[in-house]
Amino acid sequence: MESEARLALQEYLSLNRNEPHVNVRIEEYGIYIDKELQFLGASPDGLVTCDCCEVRLVEIKCPRIDLSRLSYLKDEKLKHKTSYYGQIQGQMMVTGIHKSYFYIYYGAGKEHFEILEYDETFCKDMRANLTKF
Ligand SMILES: [Zn+2]
Repeated sequence: MESEARLALQEYLSLNRNEPHVNVRIEEYGIYIDKELQFLGASPDGLVTCDCCEVRLVEIKCPRIDLSRLSYLKDEKLKHKTSYYGQIQGQMMVTGIHKSYFYIYYGAGKEHFEILEYDETFCKDMRANLTKF
């Protein structure tokens, strides 16, 4: 399912009417380790590149239930008080790539696409909580 989702996302980005991207590639990526907090790692689902924009991360979900029934979305946005939001912000913090796509694929034409920017305040708090022992 995830490889199908990757192809669907690639097509979505290439054919996007408002902002068509040229030569979109979604590369697999391994684990990043935080430079200072070495117990902190992130493994995003992919790295998105194209000829027109800077590199960004992507987190892909392939749920088994319809998009309208997903508890982590509200008004077509990822809720901030969810583990997915924390996970994506953590990935941006560790990798230093401050833009990420959140892509949910449930089948052809049933997809959710959202661009998330780095949330500095959120990450500062997260970091402070992680270093409290
Ligand atoms: Zn582009």
